[in-house]
Amino acid sequence: MSNLSDQITQFRNMVQNDPENELGHYRLGQLLMQDNQPLEAVESFRQTVTISPQFSKAYQLLGEALLKAGKNAEAILALTNGFKKADERGDLMPRDAMGKLLRELGAEVPLVAKEEKSSSVPDGPGGFSCKRPGCLLGNRASPIVIPPMNDDLGTQIMANICAGCWSGWLKDYSVKVINELRLNLSDEKRYLEYDRHMREYLGLETDKTPKI
Ligand SMILES: [Zn+2]
Repeated sequence: MSNLSDQITQFRNMVQNDPENELGHYRLGQLLMQDNQPLEAVESFRQTVTISPQFSKAYQLLGEALLKAGKNAEAILALTNGFKKADERGDLMPRDAMGKLLRELGAEVPLVAKEEKSSSVPDGPGGFSCKRPGCLLGNRASPIVIPPMNDDLGTQIMANICAGCWSGWLKDYSVKVINELRLNLSDEKRYLEYDRHMREYLGLETDKTPKI
């Protein structure tokens, strides 16, 4: 068995044991794309955006998987929705990548609502102050739109962490954590470990770990 098919099996088990794990679905989708299984990848990315509708990069990958599977009309729909979502959230990189794909497909690119703020715009009294050490957004930081979880941790993240840092965690670092630690999902410590990494990344205090 190749390393890639081992990983696919591992992530299939992950999402089977934990169907609400959007990052597991996301990573599985990426692996399936690498393995040239776009139809299977479409399913994984659909699960990802169903569980986590704010995850704009997942719409981009969903669109790419649909294109690879030859489903252009569905791809245009996914990319159009994803473009709007990314624009709303200020996720400019996935937004522009989806805009480019839509243009290549000869489809209409939605109007951009959120332009990059020029640095001459002063931070207003409503400016969001992100508590994450290393946040690069400064006074361009904007709050998260939807609480990422329906618990105290979700509230804490919403109050302290900007949308950019949160999506950085979601899109990049958390996937690495899941992948590299190869967390054992039958092990309850997985949640503690995952939370610990998330809190460290976000710079949140670590003494409020929810009880299991
Ligand atoms: Zn931030």
